[in-house]
Amino acid sequence: VSLIDGHCHLANLNDVLSLEPLLAEARAKGIERFLSSALTKSEIQYHLEHEHQGVLFSAGIHPNFDDCDLELCEIKQLCDNRQIWAVGEIGLDRYNPDLDWQKDILIRQLEQAAEHSLPVVLHLIGFQQQAYEILKRFPLKYLVHSYAGSLDGFNLLCRLDSAYTISERILRPDKIGLLKAIVSHGSFLWETDITKYYVHPEESNPLLRLLNTFTLTSGITGVAESELLQMQDDTYNKLTEVTP
Ligand SMILES: [Zn+2]
Repeated sequence: VSLIDGHCHLANLNDVLSLEPLLAEARAKGIERFLSSALTKSEIQYHLEHEHQGVLFSAGIHPNFDDCDLELCEIKQLCDNRQIWAVGEIGLDRYNPDLDWQKDILIRQLEQAAEHSLPVVLHLIGFQQQAYEILKRFPLKYLVHSYAGSLDGFNLLCRLDSAYTISERILRPDKIGLLKAIVSHGSFLWETDITKYYVHPEESNPLLRLLNTFTLTSGITGVAESELLQMQDDTYNKLTEVTP
């Protein structure tokens, strides 16, 4: 197998566990590529100073994360310098009551992505209709991270050029319909969404959780592992190919 962790926070994780040995072990077990999301100045700094084999990073102003200290000019600079593979994670989150600010900062970042022809990593908790109304004005490649909302919301987002990351959250019995819909849609990666906040005590390498998510997806949907891996590879190549 050659797996891709389609959404993780590696610089953030590095605060509590030294990253290089974790990546080496993950690679040896078949997890070879990582799309890391940076949400603070120090996480960006980390990624700029440490190039790890197989790791690309994105950056964005998150709709609902208090520690996010990024400003629009920093996102713009990273785009200008082609240092990020995508803008994000950005989006809308129903747990932040200030919807006007969320919409404004989302639109400004989508404009940056459009100007530089970069994909966008989306964080969408609720507000699917409002998000869709904004996103449809920007014909970009979208990676919707850890989507766990309604099937109606999923179908709406599928009108965009959208791919999804499959997390542990939709391997539960009540989310089987959504998991199957994502797999039939055919554009997906798996993810851990790992941060330093989610590491369990006694857990030596949380990156390895991805192996279980992959195996369970095949078990639950009945789709062969080889077929799932092919869809994963096609999705990754399409998302990361550089558009002139
Ligand atoms: Zn995340």
